[in-house]
Amino acid sequence: MPDLYAQVALDMPIGDHFDYQLPPEAVSLAVPGRWVLVPWSQGRRVGVIVDIVDTSAVAERTRPIIRVLDEVPLAPRGWLELARFAAGYYHRSLGEVLVPTLPKLLRNGSVTGTRGSPFTRATRRFEVERRAAVQRGSERSGEGSGKSGGDSSGDSDGKRGNEVGDKKAAPELTVEQQQALDTLSAERGFAVFLLHGITGSGKTEVYLRWIEQLLDRDPTGQVLMLVPEIALTPQLSAQLKARLGRHPIAILHSDVADGERAAAWLAAARGEARLVIGTRLSVLTPLPALTAIVVDEEHDASYKQQEGVHYSARDLAIVLAAECKVPVVLGSATPSLESWGRARAGRYRLLSLTERATGASLPSIRIQPLRGHPQEQGLTSPARQAIAETLARSEQALVFINRRGYAPVLCCEACGWLSACDACSAYRVLHRSGASRAGTPSRYRLVCHHCALETTVPRTCPTCGNIDLQALGRGTQRIEEGLAQLFPQARIARLDRDVARRRGAAEAVIDAARAGEVDLLVGTQMLAKGHDFERLTLVVVVDADAGLFSSDFRAPERLFATLTQVAGRAGRAGGQARQGEVLIQTRYPDHPLFEYLCRHDYAGFADQQLEDRRGMNLPPFMYQALLRAEADAIADALGFLGQARDAAREIAASLGADVRLYDPVPMPIARIAGKERAQLLLESASRKALQALLERWITPMRQSRSKVRWQIEVDPLEI
Ligand code: ADP
Ligand code: ZN
Ligand code: ZN
Repeated sequence: MPDLYAQVALDMPIGDHFDYQLPPEAVSLAVPGRWVLVPWSQGRRVGVIVDIVDTSAVAERTRPIIRVLDEVPLAPRGWLELARFAAGYYHRSLGEVLVPTLPKLLRNGSVTGTRGSPFTRATRRFEVERRAAVQRGSERSGEGSGKSGGDSSGDSDGKRGNEVGDKKAAPELTVEQQQALDTLSAERGFAVFLLHGITGSGKTEVYLRWIEQLLDRDPTGQVLMLVPEIALTPQLSAQLKARLGRHPIAILHSDVADGERAAAWLAAARGEARLVIGTRLSVLTPLPALTAIVVDEEHDASYKQQEGVHYSARDLAIVLAAECKVPVVLGSATPSLESWGRARAGRYRLLSLTERATGASLPSIRIQPLRGHPQEQGLTSPARQAIAETLARSEQALVFINRRGYAPVLCCEACGWLSACDACSAYRVLHRSGASRAGTPSRYRLVCHHCALETTVPRTCPTCGNIDLQALGRGTQRIEEGLAQLFPQARIARLDRDVARRRGAAEAVIDAARAGEVDLLVGTQMLAKGHDFERLTLVVVVDADAGLFSSDFRAPERLFATLTQVAGRAGRAGGQARQGEVLIQTRYPDHPLFEYLCRHDYAGFADQQLEDRRGMNLPPFMYQALLRAEADAIADALGFLGQARDAAREIAASLGADVRLYDPVPMPIARIAGKERAQLLLESASRKALQALLERWITPMRQSRSKVRWQIEVDPLEI
């Protein structure tokens, strides 16, 4: 029997670790935080050593580890602690948290790559950049303050970045920006800052200056910057590279190809990349020299992981900052009510930017009633007129509709047939494929947005044979088509997830819009976030009503955020440029949400929402967890949840934990891809009580076999 065993976390739902023998030659390398390759049944798996012990309860059955993956850097303590926290808090095994964070290419234990492979090239580039940075660093030392900008020589993806780098040197900070920066600079230990800045207030500039200071101050320190998914990343990373490119920068998001990703990850894990910019998963990148964290657009729902371990990257960023004793900044024009509430309670330090950095004023927002106002192509006459005037001034307009496709449903007016999906409790959405301009033939199909099933459009009504089927309502494609009819001279571009599916397509639209090659932009939220289109002076929201009367208590918060973001695209230029104008079409012009919106009063809205939530005992005054189950029959899912609830009730009683257990109910969209889904909500005013219950409740549930698939979500965003 060997003297030592390694406890290894593997990507398995049960068991926090598995014991393996440590061969003598591995002992010196094998410490907690090491990646290893171990045998598993007939195959092998990658895992992380979490502890070394000298006895094992299953000693006779243990096998030796195959190899220590010493080409992967030893993970730092803070990272392991973060993963432990996440495993505990989200009630998953440690390995389920840890293992998926290692890029695919590094998992099979052979990373060397061949000459000229993307991985090798990317690795070389980091090395070159790092040397150059060290070189420049030694030249710069003694130079004093770190205020130089505009050096884009370290730009690592070559094709972008220069445009921004050439155009913009560092602007002089506004008084508010300077105050925010000074406050940040003074903090060296753990603290959470909420940077609340209106759209266009120059939050990015504050991050950038702070990051610049941090990197110059500590020649080995690393900064992690989290950004939401999609379109935002190229523009932002180009800007950061242009200004901070003298430091090696690693970019980690799902669009980065495997080889690049592995190289970037390694550069980050080795401490070579000084700035790591990434989407939610990058919060779990091991960073040995972390000195600060930025979470941009902290309210964004894409920070919530929806597969595997359902963690909130924003929340984990705060835990990581605490673990590493470094400051973290959460930034947004419309912070989540969770963060806002904590800032109001003094737990986060609030930094405010109340004016646009360019001196531009915020757009004027007008509410346009739909009822009693005839529409053409979904647009009221004031909306059409505003667009016409904008085009006449050679400025840009953005038409926002948060629904992709041509029309949300196809119907038969003779018998009432609707294009329901056979596999889901939802309608199939009419999509148009092929060219979208008049004159060219196009085809239609029906697509289910839940199960992705596509079908052709029936020629006649499947129930009554009527040949006259009608598209009901509008999506981005139909709006685009309508605009082309109303404004035949205008150059129109659309951006939504369907367009963005083609690699580079979203960037192309954004670049064209920035270059002024587009007059009318049509799109979903993808157009709302972060973009800076100089000539854009009008935003029309086709229909704001979906979020107004939703059963989800977070719907108003989300709607307010979306409308603020999209409105914030208008009139950003300042100087001689026109004030932006926003027109919101609605059936409920008197809804109180619009009053706050028109006054640009996020704080008023948020405080009011918090009051409502307090009165109704909703988060953030309550902590929630959701157990979801799916089965072929709804009765099975509900039955499973009913039993689970009984078990939870007993545990709660034995713990004396004050946790409220609701009745299991079918989910709002009960059936998806043929599976019936139901959920059970638990809530408590005490996070501790809820967590204590979950801990006792979940483990036995994992160990017992059930034909019902289930998952637990802590702090669910959608209920
Ligand atoms: P936010 O992220 O807060 O919406 P941005 O960071 O996109 O705002 O900044 C809005 C615009 O203001 C950008 O074009 C940016 O270059 C510009 N800007 C930022 N800070 C300043 C400043 N101090 N002086 C002039 N322009 C600035
Ligand atoms: Zn019919
Ligand atoms: Zn479906």
